[in-house]
Amino acid sequence: MARTPRTTSGSMPLSELLISKESRAMASFAVRDLDEMLRFPPRRYVTPAPLRSLREVQDGEEVSAIVTVGSIRDRSMRSRRGHLLEVEVSDGSDTLELVFFLSHAGQVEWHRARMGQGGTILVRGTAHRDQRRGRFQIAHPEYEPVDDTPAARAQALRPRPVYPLKKNIAQATMRSATAVGLENAKLLRRPVPPEVLAARGLPALEDAVRLLHDPADLDEARRGRDVLAFEEAFVLQAIFAERRARDERTPAPALRADGPLQGEFDARLPFALTAGQITVGEEIAERIAREHPTSVLLQGDVGSGKTVVALRAMLRAVDSGHQAVLLAPTEVLAEQHHRTITALLGDLAGAGRLDGHADATRVRLLTGSQRTADRRETLLDVTSGAAGIVIGTHALLTETVEFAALGLVVIDEQHRFGVDHRRRLRAKGPEGRSPHVVVMTATPIPRTAALATVGDLDVLSLRESPGHRRGVTSFAVHESLPAWERRMWERAGEEISEGRQVFVVCPRIDEDEEVPEGEEPARGVLATAERLARRPELGGARIGVLHGRMSAEEKQETMARVLDGRLDVLVATTVIEVGVDVPNASVMIVLDAELFGVSQLHQLRGRVGRGEHPGLAFLDTRAVPGSEASRRLETIAGATDGFELAEKDLAHRGAGDLVGEEQSGLQRTLRHLDLRRDAELVEQAREDAFALLEQDPELTDHPALAAAIADRLRHADPDVERS
Ligand code: ADP
Ligand code: MG
Repeated sequence: MARTPRTTSGSMPLSELLISKESRAMASFAVRDLDEMLRFPPRRYVTPAPLRSLREVQDGEEVSAIVTVGSIRDRSMRSRRGHLLEVEVSDGSDTLELVFFLSHAGQVEWHRARMGQGGTILVRGTAHRDQRRGRFQIAHPEYEPVDDTPAARAQALRPRPVYPLKKNIAQATMRSATAVGLENAKLLRRPVPPEVLAARGLPALEDAVRLLHDPADLDEARRGRDVLAFEEAFVLQAIFAERRARDERTPAPALRADGPLQGEFDARLPFALTAGQITVGEEIAERIAREHPTSVLLQGDVGSGKTVVALRAMLRAVDSGHQAVLLAPTEVLAEQHHRTITALLGDLAGAGRLDGHADATRVRLLTGSQRTADRRETLLDVTSGAAGIVIGTHALLTETVEFAALGLVVIDEQHRFGVDHRRRLRAKGPEGRSPHVVVMTATPIPRTAALATVGDLDVLSLRESPGHRRGVTSFAVHESLPAWERRMWERAGEEISEGRQVFVVCPRIDEDEEVPEGEEPARGVLATAERLARRPELGGARIGVLHGRMSAEEKQETMARVLDGRLDVLVATTVIEVGVDVPNASVMIVLDAELFGVSQLHQLRGRVGRGEHPGLAFLDTRAVPGSEASRRLETIAGATDGFELAEKDLAHRGAGDLVGEEQSGLQRTLRHLDLRRDAELVEQAREDAFALLEQDPELTDHPALAAAIADRLRHADPDVERS
């Protein structure tokens, strides 16, 4: 008895399809229409125990059996209010008692009617031997009326979906709601054209949802899921294909010039470029020479030399009569980039100065905490075009900054920037033209995750590190083993006496004073600095602190003291996570390491071993040796390369914090797709979605796909939509 809907336009609201108890249950998961409901995945399946005869039943065993209802007795309970319903059932081989404790007489009536004397039911539950009467009972079994036919027996063995539940919602309600939905599956929207699914050998959507919610076996459930996973990947890839198609219609400055700054700069480099830097440099040069904006994700481990690659591309922009901007996530980093880039360029950055080179340009720094006069001067250079290279923080994104001819945007550490930032910068190009964008990240993303998350970017990788880097050896250190702890501080002391420097990172600035009995607070920067001053192993070391409550000047002053060697130990929060380059630092100690994310820890240890001295990283933890947290730290300590770590981390728990804010928004909308296992589906969906967008760039013939894209973007993040 299908409850028939009143309307067939758009997606069917559940309120028109279901009884209110069912639609309320679905609404508690924010599932409001037919399309969402049939895509709402079961959490798992229960496979019924094989049907058996009652004679074989053992104490404590899961039982499924088809039985005939015998006598039904109910009586009020003396000890507490309510009714006891006892039903004797039999299958010819033996008998069994079903017992229900019910609070209302109405429930008694309901069960009596449902079972019917002499009726046949399929019953499931756990059998226990009733000690007094020496026979088997099942308390509160699941049961349903059935016919005792081969078909009914097959039906009884089907796996049953188990949906997540919230308070006061019964599994049966979720199941009955979904069953009504399945009767109306022909009304589903089809974002993936049926012929695309067919060509991939996948079942049609109506069949897929039935396989997912009412499979004959677990293999069917998986085949149903595959279609929904494919659909998710397809919609996502269509978004990327659409963005790329839009870029193909947008003009960009073609940055093609081949000199003179680039040649002068290469000649001046104090080292030889690695083969990877050269190849990736050529690939970027080829892309930014195009007449449409390109978006590149440049990934390379910490210290792989991305900045030089980016700088060479920026010089190409300047040579081509345009400007380039480099955006950093923090002021400390922006200042550091400004310092190193100015130093690397030497007289090539000296335009307008007596000692400037004839072809020189100007490099300008723009940050939020700059003095007004400096800022005004910088802005003038940006607007006039005198500054070929501009380096800054988010402050650069404000409306007041206008570039004379912005050709290239480089974003360092993609983690902290969303698509929205990219879009705002895109709007800063000259005369309706969009600048090219290069995003740099030190957290490599495995290929499938990259396709599924930043599929609108071309991914280029720097896989080798310049030879001078001595690398980092990492250890997990358990505080429960005091000898190791002591050894760790001794090693730090030894490095300091060799003239090198030590970073100590804490999860907090202050330590909580009130923590539950028996627990210790997460380590704070300030208290740690005081404790370290008393540690004998660090006798006499000069200790400084760095954290987010300090003013920009205080931070600058501290970093300057670190850089020129006036501090031996810097105790900091993760403000030093990203990009800080102190070649003389050789030890990184992370306290309460279990509180940090994988990519964070990898970033942190990348802060040492950057110069001629090998680095040591200690991941210090209170986690119990052998625990999950401790094993995770050991995995990190054992993996040296970010690419390897990214793969391991993905295998461990999904794309997680490998991807930035925009990406995680889109990720949240993935319910069926598993980036660890669905590599092939993602590749196929990408191929098909890009082919479709090629045929129908405006999606005029594919309104269901257009609607699904709009939906997906709305759910992911209101900012993601590019107008
Ligand atoms: P990333 O940004 O990828 O972490 P950087 O660009 O900051 O790495 O480079 C790390 C250090 O290595 C810098 O001091 C840089 O000058 C140096 N460097 C870059 N390329 C080379 C190279 N080919 N040979 C030697 N040193 C290099
Ligand atoms: Mg860097």
